[in-house]
Amino acid sequence: MNKLSCEVVEDLLPLYHDEVCSAATREAIEAHLATCGHCSAALRKLQQNSSLPFEVIARNKQESAGLSSFQGYWHRARVLSFVKGLLLATAVCAVLILGYATLFRWNITKVPSSSIEITDVSLLNNGKIAYHVKITDGYEVNQINARMGNDGIFYITPVRPVIKSRKFAELGLGNRYDTIDLELLNANRNNPSTQIKAIYYGPKDNNPILIWKQGMDLPPATAAVEAQFAEQN
Ligand SMILES: [Zn+2]
Repeated sequence: MNKLSCEVVEDLLPLYHDEVCSAATREAIEAHLATCGHCSAALRKLQQNSSLPFEVIARNKQESAGLSSFQGYWHRARVLSFVKGLLLATAVCAVLILGYATLFRWNITKVPSSSIEITDVSLLNNGKIAYHVKITDGYEVNQINARMGNDGIFYITPVRPVIKSRKFAELGLGNRYDTIDLELLNANRNNPSTQIKAIYYGPKDNNPILIWKQGMDLPPATAAVEAQFAEQN
C-alpha cells in the first residue's frame, strides 16, 4: 500500500477524517497527502464542510432553546390566565351568593308597625303576659328580634329579607299567640333599678305598639288563651 491512487484516497478521506481507518491506511493516506495537492485540498474541503453543520447544529440548538423558553412562557401565560379566570369566576360566584343571601336570606327588613296587629293582651295564671300577633301585609315573618334598651324598654321586632315571601304568611311568626315572662326578664337584668318599664312590638323608630308598661293592669287571660299555653305550663 505504498502508492495509492487519488481516486482511492478520495474514497478513503471521509474515513480518515473521521479517524476510523487502520493505522496502515492512515499512514498511506498521509504519505499520499504529503505529495498530492489535489487530495490535500479535498481533505480541507471535507474539514470545512464538517465544521459547517456543527455551526448549524449550534444555531439550531439556540433556536430550539428559544422555542422551548417561548413554550415555557406560553405555558405560564396559560396557567396565569387560568388562575385569573378562576379568581374572576370565584368573585362572580361570591357576588351572586352574597346578593342572593342579602335579598332572599338575611332578615334585614323590619316589618312596619302599621302591618302589625296585637290583640288579646292578657295575664296568664302563671304570671306571664300573653298576646296574639298578626302580620297583616300578607308576607312571611322570618325572625323575631328582641332588644332591651338601657332605658329598660323592651322591643320585639319582626324582621324578614328584602325579597319577602307569601309562603308562610298565615303560619308561624306572622300569626300566633306568644308570651312574655316579665319576671324572668327582670331577673336577668343586672341592675334592679333598671327593671323593665315597657314592652313594645315593632321597630323602635316606627311607632311600635305598646303591649305593657309599668303600672298597667292587664285583664286575666280567657280560658281560650290559657288553653293555648296549657302544654307549656
Ligand atoms: Zn492524490
